[in-house]
Amino acid sequence: MKALSKLHSKPGIWMTDVEIPEPGHNDLLIKIRKTAICGTDMHIYHWDEWSQKTIPVPMVVGHEYVGEVVGMGQEVAGFKVGDRVSGEGHITCGHCRNCRAGRRHLCRNTYGVGVNRQGSFAEYLVIPALNAFKIPDNISDELASIFDPFGNAVHTALSFDLVGEDVLITGAGPIGIMAAAVARHVGARHVVITDINDYRLELAKKMGATRTVNVGREKLPDVMKEIGMTEGFDVGLEMSGVAVAFRDMLSSMNHGGKIAMLGIPPGEMAIDWSQVIFKGLILKGIYGREMFETWYKMASLIQSGLDLSPIITHQFSVDDYQKGFETMGSGESGKVILNWQ
Ligand code: NAD
Ligand code: ZN
Repeated sequence: MKALSKLHSKPGIWMTDVEIPEPGHNDLLIKIRKTAICGTDMHIYHWDEWSQKTIPVPMVVGHEYVGEVVGMGQEVAGFKVGDRVSGEGHITCGHCRNCRAGRRHLCRNTYGVGVNRQGSFAEYLVIPALNAFKIPDNISDELASIFDPFGNAVHTALSFDLVGEDVLITGAGPIGIMAAAVARHVGARHVVITDINDYRLELAKKMGATRTVNVGREKLPDVMKEIGMTEGFDVGLEMSGVAVAFRDMLSSMNHGGKIAMLGIPPGEMAIDWSQVIFKGLILKGIYGREMFETWYKMASLIQSGLDLSPIITHQFSVDDYQKGFETMGSGESGKVILNWQ
């Protein structure tokens, strides 16, 4: 089968031919229809320090996808051939304390699809049936293919009550933008989002941010004054992984504010801890998606009218994967989808 693989220990990704994977007793064999390119895939593409330490070569990458069940192991229940599925990219151990308590997103032995084991940039993918999520009929293939990052946005945004709250999102990458859409949809008042990229801020505005702030030109305290915020943000969603953005967030929070942190800083990040202590802030780290509450919420949010479609800005045939990666790397895109059929 065709697959996009990290064949060499250097920047790039290559189309190759590999064996169709065999489903084990508890696995599904999925024929891939669409995949989306994640920030993680861009790290692997550029072969940064993290990828060099993490990714075995050769390796089929990718973990954002939608496809159709075409085969399954003998122990699988609850799925049938023809089901349309996406899947949770974190494969958990099932035997640690958190897994056994139903908190699988906190598994300490997590394996990543397309990171630690063969991924979805291929004509076929095998995953444990436990990780698959059936897509309701009224949700398009396009949207289903981005459920993984949408899930990061939903998990982060719904960590705290947003109804009637003032929300600050730092980082208008695809995930930050989707989080803005979710915050607005569930009833936040001000949804302010920061970035240094005007293309992405424009997209965030289209999708529900009530005020965008290019921090290269405007200062957050001035914006807060302009929109009549006298105290500070109630909830912060950190989605940039950039230290200065997080520091801006800390100093703009109201006392008792709550911050959910998804962005991954490249290294250690110094902050003024007195902001956290004297304001009584609550910080929560977010990894992945809750299994499977986040997935149910994603489907329900779309079914209750959340319009995510503007975030998908580009689609290419997989034969044009190079263009796809270049578009994603340009900063002038939302989600970029590769079509496998
Ligand atoms: P992204 O890199 O596309 O988005 C980050 C955005 O932050 C970019 O648009 C960038 O321009 C912006 N930015 C840069 N400097 C800024 C500043 N000073 N102030 C405000 N914004 C600034 O990433 P993404 O795919 O949207 O993901 C968001 C973050 O979440 C990334 O750090 C990613 O690594 C991380 N992530 C974490 C998990 C997890 O499970 N914890 C999962 C997926 C992604
Ligand atoms: Zn576990």
